[in-house]
Amino acid sequence: MPKYQVPSRGAKIGRKGAALEVPDEPIIPFFPGDGTGPDLWRATQVVLDGAVEKAYKGKKKIAWMEVYAGLTALKHYDKDTVLPQETLDAFREYRVGLKGPLTTPAGQHKFVCLDCAAELPDRPAKCPKCGSQWITPRFRSVNVGLRQKLDLYACVRPVRWFTGVPCPVKEPGKLDIVIFRENTEDIYAGIEFEWGTPEQKKVYDFLVKDMGKKIPFPDSGIGIKPISKTGSQRLIRMAIRYAIDHKKPSVTIVHKGNIQKFTEGAFRDWGYELAKSEFRDQIVTEAELWDQHNGKMPAGKLLIKDRIADQTFQQLLLRPDEYSVLATPNLNGDYLSDAAAAQVGGLGIAPGANIGDEAAIFEATHGTAPKYTNKDMVNPGSLILSGVMMLEHLGWQAAADLVVKGLEATIQAKTVTYDLERQMPGAKKLKCSEFGAAIVKNMGGAPVAA
Ligand code: NAD
Repeated sequence: MPKYQVPSRGAKIGRKGAALEVPDEPIIPFFPGDGTGPDLWRATQVVLDGAVEKAYKGKKKIAWMEVYAGLTALKHYDKDTVLPQETLDAFREYRVGLKGPLTTPAGQHKFVCLDCAAELPDRPAKCPKCGSQWITPRFRSVNVGLRQKLDLYACVRPVRWFTGVPCPVKEPGKLDIVIFRENTEDIYAGIEFEWGTPEQKKVYDFLVKDMGKKIPFPDSGIGIKPISKTGSQRLIRMAIRYAIDHKKPSVTIVHKGNIQKFTEGAFRDWGYELAKSEFRDQIVTEAELWDQHNGKMPAGKLLIKDRIADQTFQQLLLRPDEYSVLATPNLNGDYLSDAAAAQVGGLGIAPGANIGDEAAIFEATHGTAPKYTNKDMVNPGSLILSGVMMLEHLGWQAAADLVVKGLEATIQAKTVTYDLERQMPGAKKLKCSEFGAAIVKNMGGAPVAA
């Protein structure tokens, strides 16, 4: 018997080929996360359940099932288990999940307080910050563990502006993109050799003496980043399928192939190869657009193009409306996701998901914001919008649309959490829970102040 409780109602999500078979009452594993996670979770659950109820009048419902990870897992399992096998199995078995942020103690700290997430250099009898006796040795990142063990190979980040959100650019509404970032290789599978070690010397000698390669200085750290055809194509396939399913105009393959031909450049080449071999009737490449169609996009087709990474940063600022779905290797996508989110008002309301062939986990993109723990203050927008992505993944578009409608109306009514309120003249500051309640109220019609 697992330590978590399986709901008495509800059924597992099934699969037919690549498509999910979603029952009317799917069991969805979740964990609120650490720090402010429980506050965020409470507000999010009210919003998602409210939208589903309103959209389907009781015909559909989510059967939430709490599983344990991070600091909470340490309380339910033994003191070193931050990512229980049962939790991994649940996400795999039930296929779709939602998670709050998790603490990842920084490298130099040896211990963590389970109650307030304080990171401590040694193990005191009590936490100097909150007095808790629950102190545990530090652990490696649970987020990375989840991604790797479930092979969630695509990190998906939609980035768009919500009317009224303060932001640094003049026309934020022109940016509306979805970034598919490769999640398992490139620098995530990078191998490094530290200068001064025998391993570095061995690799240096092999490269310089045996392979005849040039390295300007022998006192170099050396890094290797693998990018494979398999990893690139499964990511780009997911991006293209998404673009076709959602009737998006283009997929842009972002790379640094002008410099790194056999990794970044190959990512681009494998992308075009896949697009032409698997989606031939549905796509037009940018070269074909000019060679065969005089620059005029044939109706109903998806444009496949590529851009060099540095140029992409410029283009998203200068010509954002020319971009729609982006497929990127790991490192480029890391930079690009955060930069694009900043362009439309920051990470506070940027949602995300990690998706593989077996499971999909939707998550807030920010961390645990530990100094606001239990203050009912932080902005639940990121987790709520991750819930919207989850509803869309289930095919529950009507409920997803209601959440977005409620969120937009609440922001436009200038009733927002502290992080937005301090940047919006005349706005009213709401608690995290009040913001959730206002979204539910505003799903119906005209904005209602909380
Ligand atoms: P953070 O995202 O928790 O906080 C950065 C800043 O953003 C802080 O000023 C915080 O107050 C603010 N902020 C974050 N979320 C907010 C919200 N919902 N509403 C309003 N303001 C918000 O990043 P950090 O401080 O670098 O990390 C804290 C902990 O979170 C660390 O243990 C880190 O490892 C972890 N973390 C987890 C994830 C994840 O689970 N996906 C991601 C990033 C960081």
